[in-house]
Amino acid sequence: MQMLVLGAGQLARMMALVAAPLDIHIRAYDVTTKQVLHPVTGERYEQSLQQAIEASDRITAEFEHVPLDVLALCEQSGKFFPSKKAIECGGDRAKEKALLDTAGVASAPYVLVTERLHLDQAINEFGLPLVIKTCQAGYDGKGQWRLKSSEQTDDIWQEMLAFLEKDVTHSIICEKMIPFEREVSVIGARDRQGNVKVYPVTENEHTNGVLTLSVAGIVNQDIQAQAIDAYHKIAEELEYVGVLAIEFFEVDGELLVNEIAPRVHNSGHWTQQGAYCCQFENHVRAVAGLPLGNTDLLRPSAMINVLGQDAIPQQVLATTGARSHWYGKKVKPGRKMGHINVSADTLNELGKRLNELSEHLSEQDYPGVKARANQLLSR
Ligand code: ATP
Ligand code: MG
Repeated sequence: MQMLVLGAGQLARMMALVAAPLDIHIRAYDVTTKQVLHPVTGERYEQSLQQAIEASDRITAEFEHVPLDVLALCEQSGKFFPSKKAIECGGDRAKEKALLDTAGVASAPYVLVTERLHLDQAINEFGLPLVIKTCQAGYDGKGQWRLKSSEQTDDIWQEMLAFLEKDVTHSIICEKMIPFEREVSVIGARDRQGNVKVYPVTENEHTNGVLTLSVAGIVNQDIQAQAIDAYHKIAEELEYVGVLAIEFFEVDGELLVNEIAPRVHNSGHWTQQGAYCCQFENHVRAVAGLPLGNTDLLRPSAMINVLGQDAIPQQVLATTGARSHWYGKKVKPGRKMGHINVSADTLNELGKRLNELSEHLSEQDYPGVKARANQLLSR
């Protein structure tokens, strides 16, 4: 089977690596350069998007910021999964909030802002600080403002206005700042018959808006049940096919959705060695119309993002249970270059392995590894 993936980054690459043993062959479409590429070698195919669509049996996406005309072409072919609507909801916070409201899933309270009045309304309703996000442009914490004190309001409004005036199709959302205890996410897959399989909830740490560390196997059953409930509601509302990720804030034992990602997700990379069938394979399976693989936890696992580094100390690979996954990208400050997965039979053993890794990974470049090791060791 030939599968086309919209987007040619690391997610397409990791899909291709697990698709090959299924005899599914992936080509990636880089929406920026408009080239069709091999997602692992980067080799270029002399093919237009239209030709690639025709030559494919199935089409999917690895990210949500796909131009609408490209999405429309793919949807018309009848080969595209999950759907244009699902990708659009992931790429537009206003559509996403409307979806969550319709599905009956709680999320951070919000106001859509197109004029100053709306900003003042948000300040009155939610108080300060406020989280302000562009609806269509953000990723990795980019395209956001934090309004912390009322003296900043006029300045931030000027910046918001400049943004709104630059492109009339763009909009802005103001959210209540949620005083969360932790951030968690759930990844799951839904097939074309509507069967759903959900991985254990992952606990995530962000540094400067970017995911730095995920741990799976530590979340209690009550949180897991809430996450599964939200997952079913959202996936069914979208008649979703493929892997879908949902990020949550946990406040007083309750989950509030932060955002959804209609694709495989960074906080699910641990499934490459911590679950029976990883998120990449389950996405490919769902899109291909194959049965979903088991999503149970095989062993407690953690994932450490490699940001802005093009090498890791060799001792990392000498740590039992640790493996590196490089994305083959040119290094830039803060860029997601790869990740390290580490697993163990018990949480205590995982703590020991993270502790060993923290001796080789600096706190500055790999924040939170040592603290997480200590937390697991003191359980
Ligand atoms: P990514 O695509 O990498 O997940 P993003 O750019 O889409 O990130 P968000 O997930 O919306 O952005 O926000 C990034 C981080 O900012 C969140 O993980 C969270 O730590 C913080 N944050 C966002 N919204 C809120 C909120 N309403 N209250 C408190 N913290 C927030
Ligand atoms: Mg996010």
